[in-house]
Amino acid sequence: MKIKKFSKKPFDIESRLGADPVVCYPNATIEDKNLSILHLARKNLIKKNELIIPPRDAKTFEVKFGEFFRIESLDGPQVGDLNLFSLNNLDEKFYSGKTRALYGTHLSVGDKMFSSFPYLRSLAMITWDTLDWYDYDKDGGSVHDVIGTRCDPYTSKLLSNNDYHYCCHSNLTRALVKEKNIELDEAEKIVHDVLNVFMLTGFTNDTKQYFMKASPVRPGDYLEFFAETDLLGVLSACPGGDCGSEHSSDVAKCHPLKVTIWKVDKKFIKNLKPTNISDYNRNHGLERK
Ligand SMILES: [Zn+2]
Repeated sequence: MKIKKFSKKPFDIESRLGADPVVCYPNATIEDKNLSILHLARKNLIKKNELIIPPRDAKTFEVKFGEFFRIESLDGPQVGDLNLFSLNNLDEKFYSGKTRALYGTHLSVGDKMFSSFPYLRSLAMITWDTLDWYDYDKDGGSVHDVIGTRCDPYTSKLLSNNDYHYCCHSNLTRALVKEKNIELDEAEKIVHDVLNVFMLTGFTNDTKQYFMKASPVRPGDYLEFFAETDLLGVLSACPGGDCGSEHSSDVAKCHPLKVTIWKVDKKFIKNLKPTNISDYNRNHGLERK
């Protein structure tokens, strides 16, 4: 926050102000030319599996390369917090910060969910978004953000001295422990910053603080992904419900979410290959012994 100012303005202030913004990571070179192939493929989906995520809880699911998955609203407006891992290497996980640097504050069709270093490859690409009409509103708000982290008991304790066990961070941790047999301490360490599915957020104009508004998602809306490698997903139905009032408590009205996994005949995606991890040599300016 830039509210408290103690330093004097410099004499040459005029020459230091007003430079034009330059996009840090121009992303044209990673634009996917296969979106039209996937849009044809998605007209021929065959449902393989589905699961329901109960409110204030999370579940895991597996998606193989070449399959699609959808996160769908059921019964009422609800936000979902999504973690993604490479199925056979849980050290490789979704990298919210770099994905944000590449695509901006909120994701939609054609954007890819990149993985952590030293892997840095697309885990999944968004292929359909029934809320893409929302665009950015007058406050700069939009849906499906990569600017929040995930609601968690530590921040709740810090700000409100409150012990609450059903934040998304805890829900995601619990799902990994219960369904993947991972020790609690290890599971908690691999939970990472999420894609906030359906959440309507932005930064305030004056102080640039993270804000939320009630999500415009309604039953039947969904966000759809194409798996670019074999994936383990974990989805939490946030205790904030539509995140229009508060989270990290039992106050908000919450609803379940549905995850569906879809197959498609290989003929529709025959030229597509799984993504490869980064081929940077990892020397970092040192000689390898
Ligand atoms: Zn949450």
